[in-house]
Amino acid sequence: MTRKLDGTKLVIATHNAGKLKEIGALLAPFGIECVSAGELGLPEPAETGTTFAENALLKAHAAAKAANLPALSDDSGLSVTALEGRPGVYTADWAERQWFEGPSGRDWYMAMGKVEGLLAEKGPEVDRSCWFSCTLAIAWPDGDEVVYEGRVNGTFSWPPRGTMGFGYDPVFVPEGRDVTFAQLDPAEKQAMSHRADAFAKLVAEQFDR
Ligand code: IMP
Repeated sequence: MTRKLDGTKLVIATHNAGKLKEIGALLAPFGIECVSAGELGLPEPAETGTTFAENALLKAHAAAKAANLPALSDDSGLSVTALEGRPGVYTADWAERQWFEGPSGRDWYMAMGKVEGLLAEKGPEVDRSCWFSCTLAIAWPDGDEVVYEGRVNGTFSWPPRGTMGFGYDPVFVPEGRDVTFAQLDPAEKQAMSHRADAFAKLVAEQFDR
């Protein structure tokens, strides 16, 4: 039997403000009191895993142990078909500026431009299909864990469009639409995103909905 959340307090093991906002909104209907790793002053563990699940588990276990509460983490990224799935688990790293450290040193325009540069090198007929993946992990202080995975397919579009969302949203056009995630109302993105897909699985199992 899968372990269920039994208390009402959950640590959101992320220092990413965009993810925190989306996760808070997704959990709002379930009467869970969310407290972020940032608010608790928890350190951000190095993401040394080679899969989304490994990194999500690493972050959830670190936060659960440090806070002595169940913790939920999100590891996500953009994979581009023509780039053999890159940047994938290294999505955040591609935005890292060498002369800064930490999240404030991330330059999303540079990261999106790096993907576009690699696609452009392959010529105008290049396959621009891509997908966002999201792995959610819940860890308990005693070491128990559970993982939920989600995905949304789309197209890498250039130049970036829109001002909403975060990260790579301005270049991601979800399947069936002609606008980017950054041009969509947050509620509309929430209804179709990789995070929403993973969350639907979490909610079905954890809250019997
Ligand atoms: P990590 O999970 O902290 O390794 O970071 C994954 C990175 O993927 C984020 O920092 C974002 O740049 C990108 N990413 C993940 N989810 C989304 C999303 O919903 N929209 C745009 N970018 C995202």
